[in-house]
Amino acid sequence: MLLLDGKVASQAVKKELMIATGELIDQGKRPPHLAAVLVGNNGASETYVAGKVKFCAEIGYQSTLVRYADTIEEKELLDKIAELNKDDTVDGILVQLPLPKQISEAKVIDSISPDKDVDGFHPVSVGRLVQGLDTFIPATPFGILLMLEHFNLETKGKHAVVIGRSNIVGRPMSILLSSHIKYGNCTVTLCHSHTKNLAELTQQADIVVAALGRPEFVKANMIKEGAIIIDVGITRVDDISAPKGYRIKGDIDFKSVSEKASALTPVPGGVGLMTIAGLMKNTMNAYLRRQEQVID
Ligand code: NAP
Repeated sequence: MLLLDGKVASQAVKKELMIATGELIDQGKRPPHLAAVLVGNNGASETYVAGKVKFCAEIGYQSTLVRYADTIEEKELLDKIAELNKDDTVDGILVQLPLPKQISEAKVIDSISPDKDVDGFHPVSVGRLVQGLDTFIPATPFGILLMLEHFNLETKGKHAVVIGRSNIVGRPMSILLSSHIKYGNCTVTLCHSHTKNLAELTQQADIVVAALGRPEFVKANMIKEGAIIIDVGITRVDDISAPKGYRIKGDIDFKSVSEKASALTPVPGGVGLMTIAGLMKNTMNAYLRRQEQVID
């Protein structure tokens, strides 16, 4: 079985972006600049944002972290986004989700300028994605495409089953895999909590993307021999024997599935790292597009 190691694949993207940033600096230009907004002190969100800020530093991007207490009013957050939208030195804006209950996530996403929507959640970005136009692909599905590309896994003509239909992972992933793109052209089945015969569907799949958030949900008896398995799930499961008191589990039962799959992503160390790589590629593209130097 081929281990789809996110450390290896994300390192390749890191290197590419580091070189591109170095070239910009050599030409006397400023580096790309990502602004991240973090509301509250949710442990997982803190970890994700810290990972993004660290990645920026490693590849030479500028980053700004804006922090608010979870009691912040919606208007204050929207005003800040308006300010970042206007700031010409900022190329990409990300607001770490989830947000506290008093704030509408939809309103916040809508308020980000589509030119700086490096998370790819804005309705304009999503509409362009559906139409197969150049856009910001949401970071996690983009990271999965980069992973498929790095390991050169053929997808054309295959049957892909995506479990989960969220706006940030499952639905865009299903659209991309069915799109007329290099790592697309699959026949896609999109499953969710109302899917009746899930195991029957996954057993027929050449590719399974599990994004449901149920630790070790997909077992070996649910997959076909030789399938490619992408595990998006990240759940903290209490474990008093672990140094932090919890362990990170994916949606795939790694041990049993690794004996049957042809390729499998680990958790941690798989899709999570590629998500950051996807975000950073989007930030470079935002920078280049804003300077009217659109490249692929
Ligand atoms: P979400 O918004 O909670 O969506 C979960 C989806 O799974 C929903 O569509 C739900 O169906 C479906 N589902 C739940 N239980 C199911 C079941 N028993 N059978 C079939 N479908 C079921 O989650 P998300 O934001 O997409 O995230 C999914 C997982 O990925 C989470 O563990 C999250 O932490 C992780 N994640 C990882 C990354 C990364 O970088 N690796 C990025 C984002 C998210 P309904 O629509 O019918 O409710």
